[in-house]
Amino acid sequence: MAADKKVNPFDTARKQVEIAAKYLNLDAGTVEKLKHTKRELIVHFPVKLDNGQVKVFTGYRVQHNVARGPAKGGIRYHPDVDLDEVRALAMWMTWKSAVVNIPFGGAKGGVQCNPKEMSLHELEHLTRRFTWEIFIMLGPEQDIPAPDVYTNPQVMAWIMDTYSILKGYSVPGVVTGKPVELGGSLGRFEATGKDVVITAVEALKHLNRPIEGTRVAIQGCGNVGGTAAEQFHRLGARVIAISCSTNGIYNENGLDLKRVLGQKVEHGCFVPDPKEETEITNQQLLELDCDILVPAALENQITGENAPRVKARILVEGANGPTTPEADEVLEQKGVFVVPDILANAGGVTVSYFEWVQNLQELIWSEEEVSERLTRIMQRGFREVLDISLAKKIPMRTAALVLGIGRVAEATRLRGLYP
Ligand code: NAD
Repeated sequence: MAADKKVNPFDTARKQVEIAAKYLNLDAGTVEKLKHTKRELIVHFPVKLDNGQVKVFTGYRVQHNVARGPAKGGIRYHPDVDLDEVRALAMWMTWKSAVVNIPFGGAKGGVQCNPKEMSLHELEHLTRRFTWEIFIMLGPEQDIPAPDVYTNPQVMAWIMDTYSILKGYSVPGVVTGKPVELGGSLGRFEATGKDVVITAVEALKHLNRPIEGTRVAIQGCGNVGGTAAEQFHRLGARVIAISCSTNGIYNENGLDLKRVLGQKVEHGCFVPDPKEETEITNQQLLELDCDILVPAALENQITGENAPRVKARILVEGANGPTTPEADEVLEQKGVFVVPDILANAGGVTVSYFEWVQNLQELIWSEEEVSERLTRIMQRGFREVLDISLAKKIPMRTAALVLGIGRVAEATRLRGLYP
């Protein structure tokens, strides 16, 4: 991959606060506060593996800001998880909820592990013990996790069950992205990928381009990338390339998605049919001649090094932090229209909010209701960001930060400083 490991995502996130602060006339004290996380818990905990050996894992839960509501953010299982990554992701969650005007603060969590090498049994034990370790921070009024990279509804079910056992009663509202049978919201699983497509369609409208026939390349085929691919296809766009951590697959006329995604599930990687597709790397995917590029995997994929070779006209960030600040400058000079992560993937936290509301009120909304509300919120978010971008003549990322950080700063000002 093109990942530039030297770019620390927390440095990027803090730099972004400084950039937005200039347009908001924030005082130095407020900027300093927003650049810091509120609470950080690092835990080292033992898990008994299937071979009988005990392994110690390191996990994190970070709350960045709770000025506008309870902390909210996913839990990631990945070998590269570290404190600064989790801090950056927590900060982006704060701005994201504010951009779409949802009453949550920002948090994130993660465990350094390789879930691909662990059995289901080991993952369950790791999840339950990690939940116990960070229990002190969690709760429907305090901090509500959700799925992120390599965690899923089953992991959320284990968290909900462990938390409920420790409390002595069922607490569905402690996590979102749960299985529907346990109080998960209809439409939550697809929400982030759907949002990527809703905001991509808004970008196309703004640029007077049709969705039909639009050539899309997607890095990552998990929850976000896989769903986005299906949604683009449904609307008549041509998904010409998609990738996973191992390899990617390309057909300039559009992929047979059902077949290639089915084979990915079966084999764990893409198996190109030489008559139909070409095998490509993640690096090649990012540099393909396409209309829309959707990074939907990890941070730091589009860097100062490869940005000059990006040919897409529109970049829609399904992943969090896929573009480094250096790359941003290059993309701006090239005239690439960027739908930034804190807008493009805010659909996940939006439907998580719907799930939390349903849990607290013991309601069940239909899929249509969820989808209509999501579309309305995302279209409004896109319009508000675009209006700021046009009025202030600033890139879409800066405009989204100005909107999100501005709302958090105002909430902070109104609440005042204790004591
Ligand atoms: P996922 O675990 O469902 O899928 C991750 C995908 O990334 C997989 O297809 C995997 O093959 C791919 N991948 C992993 N390592 C890779 C590598 N080194 N190179 C290329 N691809 C690689 O995760 P997800 O939920 O789809 O999350 C993807 C991104 O979207 C993350 O940045 C996450 O923070 C962000 N995001 C997710 C949600 C959500 O609701 N799930 C919400 C907002 C943002």
